[in-house]
Amino acid sequence: MSGGVTVRVPAKVNVQLAVGAARPDGFHDLANVFLAVSLYDEVTVTPSDRFYLTCSGPYADQVPLDTTNLAARAAQALASRHGIDPAVHIHIAKDIPVAGGMAGGSADGAAALLACDALWSVGSSRTELLDICAELGSDVPFSLVGGAALGLGRGEKLTELEVGGTGFHWVFATADGGLSTPAVFREFDRLTPEAPTPEASPLLLEALRTGDAEALAASLVRSNDLQPAALSLRPSLTETLEAGVSAGALAGLVSGSGPTTAFLVADAGAAEKVAAALVASGTCRTARVATGPVVGARVI
Ligand code: ATP
Repeated sequence: MSGGVTVRVPAKVNVQLAVGAARPDGFHDLANVFLAVSLYDEVTVTPSDRFYLTCSGPYADQVPLDTTNLAARAAQALASRHGIDPAVHIHIAKDIPVAGGMAGGSADGAAALLACDALWSVGSSRTELLDICAELGSDVPFSLVGGAALGLGRGEKLTELEVGGTGFHWVFATADGGLSTPAVFREFDRLTPEAPTPEASPLLLEALRTGDAEALAASLVRSNDLQPAALSLRPSLTETLEAGVSAGALAGLVSGSGPTTAFLVADAGAAEKVAAALVASGTCRTARVATGPVVGARVI
């Protein structure tokens, strides 16, 4: 598109999601280990005579095109901070599953922010961008940063993590219909009345640091505190997890609040094999292969 700015932004998987008890403000303290993976949305902003949003791709019909869209909220937040008229057309080329626990909405928020900052020549510092991201949502700062990071607080207080080796290979099995993140947290509260203080697992951080897939797989067992709640709301995900592991995945877990399931595999060949077996099992809608960590939102 002429005169526009396009930003490519990755999805994420939580290799650990430790959840504490609900706080008085309703949020939960988290110890959240994020890994950005190579499934991408592309967000293009173009000058226009009015503000509007469009979306294309396999999940487009599930994406709201009003001011509740995180991309719209990001553009408007930046515009109002700097007294800019936000007359832009935002187009989202969506390839990240919607409501799948892969932070697709957050990714689009971070991407739109970066794209508008470039289009309007605002020149925000990294800290200013991260502040706006944190106001937009707990997962938005990580979508900007990418790579691997530990998120504390609601998940928005980020420390970047070093990852060794050449990265990890993943398969993501998408499910029909989403799961609402607030509903999964409510189910967590019901199932876990006395949640302990969430802490990152030293073994898991070490597995990331050394790039050791077998060690990471061992650390993924029960690393997602939301998994029992997601399985309680969507029992059929148990069959998807079993299908992936019996096809040779090193480990399987629910991605974030689900219903996407994530499988760590040994290499690219194993990823293709596990993806084919998952599709053949009939326990998921599609299976996508990806690698991670990858960089966060970038102008392309
Ligand atoms: P998370 O992993 O951060 O909990 P998620 O992957 O489960 O998120 P999203 O794909 O971000 O979920 O979508 C959750 C809801 O957010 C959607 O059902 C939709 O109504 C709304 N939403 C707002 N903006 C977007 C967007 N740009 N793309 C997709 N959904 C959006």
